[in-house]
Amino acid sequence: MAKSVEEARAAILASSPALTDTEVLHLSAALGRVLAEDIRAPQAVPAWPNSAMDGYALRSSDGEKPRQLIGHCFAGHPFTGVVGPGECVRIMTGAVMPEGADSVLIQEQAEIQDKTILPQQHPAPGANIRQAGEDLQPGVEALPAGTLLRPAQLALLASLGIAEVKVFRRLRVAFFSTGDELRPLGSTLEAGQIYDSNRYALQGMLQRLGCEILDLGRILDNPEHLEKTLQQAAGMADLVISTGGVSVGDADYIAELLGRIGSINFWKMNMKPGRPLAFGQLGEATFFGLPGNPVSTMVTFYQFVQPCILKRMGKSAPWTPTVLKIPLAHSLKKKPGRTDFQRGVLISGENGLQVAGVGQQASHIMSGLAHADCLIILAAEAEGAPAGSMVDVQLLEGLV
Ligand code: AMP
Ligand code: MG
Repeated sequence: MAKSVEEARAAILASSPALTDTEVLHLSAALGRVLAEDIRAPQAVPAWPNSAMDGYALRSSDGEKPRQLIGHCFAGHPFTGVVGPGECVRIMTGAVMPEGADSVLIQEQAEIQDKTILPQQHPAPGANIRQAGEDLQPGVEALPAGTLLRPAQLALLASLGIAEVKVFRRLRVAFFSTGDELRPLGSTLEAGQIYDSNRYALQGMLQRLGCEILDLGRILDNPEHLEKTLQQAAGMADLVISTGGVSVGDADYIAELLGRIGSINFWKMNMKPGRPLAFGQLGEATFFGLPGNPVSTMVTFYQFVQPCILKRMGKSAPWTPTVLKIPLAHSLKKKPGRTDFQRGVLISGENGLQVAGVGQQASHIMSGLAHADCLIILAAEAEGAPAGSMVDVQLLEGLV
């Protein structure tokens, strides 16, 4: 029975436990890691009320009356006196509000005559002031455990003065490609041979996810070699990925082999590209046997392996790629029966944002995927989609 993408993904996620091992890292080494602890703000951010603009700190209640300039305050150099009635202090963005002042008149609204400032409008109370704690109140949760640390999260942690964080250890992922026809880069191809491109795709996708990667190379279509490699991989990694050899002809003996040394399901996927998929357990390791066609390898990785990796890394949901609704620039055709993941490009023009197919959609056409910046998902029962219709799109850049 063919499995839908959703069914397969749900089954995969249900048997993908998050890591429990953690380590403490300095922020400068924590990009791409997942927080293993809730982070609370140790103090208010900002810690002091400060100016949002360059201008003059003054008392709103004096209205538009002239003010005497009595001092300066710059970021990092507070004014130590008190601003009284009819007075003001020159203030720069980020400088602490001086005592007595409750408003900042921006410099564009001030006329200067020697040491006197003439407001061009009534400065409202609280105007242009960043209040203490308006970003974060002391003690509130700044980031929950399970947060993937991207640059903005690192900056937030730094703004709280937090130098080290507890994160989950990196997921160890071993991978290899299978096929007698595969040759390494640098070799001359004989008839029927091809370069092993899948391992470079896998390496790139796994590196972007911050995995610790173990490249086990190209393995011949030979049960003994395969068994040895699978045993070795299962002993060293949290997750093992192979490509190729899961289609009907090959699958028979691989199924038997994996059935003996692990517990693996072979699924006939209701999707295009990527019909065959193997998923299961090899000892302690999660195993994925991806189809060998390069486009199928990448599309199935993004739909199934990446969600599993994100969950196992300790990231909180969502794990599935984000789906956007975007209008089609031209009609797309497909045969009803399987969910299509067509390769697409985004077009931003007079008609706003649209998406178009890249032309050739066969699963061996790697140039199509290399030119694409998104995947267009067309439902299994659909016979295509007309120009202008809203289609589901996954951005490839967004796929980590
Ligand atoms: P398979 O899944 O082993 O039946 O392979 C399906 C197709 O993908 C065949 O045309 C293979 O030659 C090709 N293929 C398998 N593995 C790779 C690889 N590592 N790099 C490039 N093409 C591959
Ligand atoms: Mg093969």
